Amino acid sequence: MNKIPLAVPHMSGEEQKYIQQAFDTNWIAPLGPHVNQFEANLAMYTGAADVAVTNSGTSAIHLALTLLNIQSGDTVFCSTFTFVASINPVLYMGAVPVFIDSETDTWGMSPIALSKALKDAASKNKLPKAIIVVHLYGQSCKMDEIMALANRYDVPVIEDAAESLGSTYKGRKLGTIGTFGIYSFNGNKIITTSGGGALVSNDVSQIEKARYLSSQAKEEAPYYSHSEVGFNYRLSNVLAGIGIAQLEVLEERIAKKRAIFEAYEAAFENNSKICFLSEWQETFNNRWLTTVLFEKNSPEKMMQQLAERGIESRRLWKPMHRQPLFQDVAYYSENREGSNADILFKKGLCLPSGTQLTDKKIDYVCKVLREISK
Ligand SMILES: *Cc1c(COP(=O)(O)O)cnc(C)c1O
Repeated sequence: MNKIPLAVPHMSGEEQKYIQQAFDTNWIAPLGPHVNQFEANLAMYTGAADVAVTNSGTSAIHLALTLLNIQSGDTVFCSTFTFVASINPVLYMGAVPVFIDSETDTWGMSPIALSKALKDAASKNKLPKAIIVVHLYGQSCKMDEIMALANRYDVPVIEDAAESLGSTYKGRKLGTIGTFGIYSFNGNKIITTSGGGALVSNDVSQIEKARYLSSQAKEEAPYYSHSEVGFNYRLSNVLAGIGIAQLEVLEERIAKKRAIFEAYEAAFENNSKICFLSEWQETFNNRWLTTVLFEKNSPEKMMQQLAERGIESRRLWKPMHRQPLFQDVAYYSENREGSNADILFKKGLCLPSGTQLTDKKIDYVCKVLREISK
C-alpha cells in the first residue's frame, strides 16, 4: 500500500485551461483578468462586499493590521492555539501580541478569557488595537460572544479563516463577520493556488486601499509616485487562474472532507478513547482536517506508530505561549487551574484528510488506530 499523506493538493483538471489562457494572452505578470475574476468569484462565494487576493494568507493579515493603522508598541489580542503565521504579522508591525486561551467547544478563542483580558487592558488604559481570532480546522469560533465583547470595547476583529474557507457561523461565511477576514490558498489548505491568500471586508474602500498597498503603494500618476510604504503582496495572474478553477470545486472538496470526517467518527462511535471535534451549534465546518483527542494515548507515540504503518498524521498546533519566540508575552487562560490550549496540544492529532482518500484507505487508518489505541 502507498503511503497515506495528511493531505496533498487536489487539482480539478481545469486549472490548465486558465493557466493556458494566461499564457496565450501573455498575462503572466502580476495582475490581469484572472486576478479580477478570482476576486469577483470569491466575493460572490463568501458574500463579502470586496476581496483583494494576495500572495499569501500571512500577507493578507499584514495588510489588515496595516489598514487598522497598528503602531509600534500597540497590543493585539491573538489566539494562542494557532499556527505562527497568525501572529508573525503582529511582530512585523512592531506591535505586541497578548495571547488568549481556547474554549473547549470549538477550540477557538475563549470569550471568558478574552473578557478577562479586555477588562484588564481597560483598567490599565491599554486596550488592544485589534483582536485576531482564528477559525481552526474549519470550525467557527463563538462569534456572537466575541463580537459582543469586541464591540463593547470598540476593538476591530480580524478573522483568520485560513483553514476555514466555506465554513459558516449562523449562515454567514467565516471571514465576513469581523472588520477583516483572511483566507489562505497555501498548498495544504482546502483549495490552493500553490501559494496565495485573500483579504476580505465589507468595507470596499479598505479593500481598494489593500490593492494599492499591496502593489507598492503606487499612486495614479503618469510617473512613479509614492507617498506611503507599500508591499509587493499581490497574487500573480497565473496563480489566480489556478484559484478560479479550484474555487469551482470547493463545494465538492468540502463534501468530501465532511464525508471523511463522518467515516472516522462512525468508526469510533462507541470508543471513549478517541474524541472528535463536534460541529458547534449553528455552525458549518468545512472539515479541512479531521482532528481527534486521545483520552489516554500519547499523540506523539500514536503519530510514530501510524508513521511505521505508512500513515502520516500531525500534532495539533503547539500554543504560542509555549513557543520560545514568545517567552515574555502575556497570556490569559480560561481557568485559573490550567490552560485549555495546552490540553488540546497534549491530547490531539490530525488524521489523514486528503480529498483523494478512498474508503479503503480510511478503513485502513481506522483499523490501525484501533490496534494502536488499545
Ligand atoms: C495557513 C495558515 C496561515 C497562513 O497562510 P499562508 O498562506 O501560508 O501565509 C495563517 N493562519 C492559519 C491558521 C493557517 O493555518
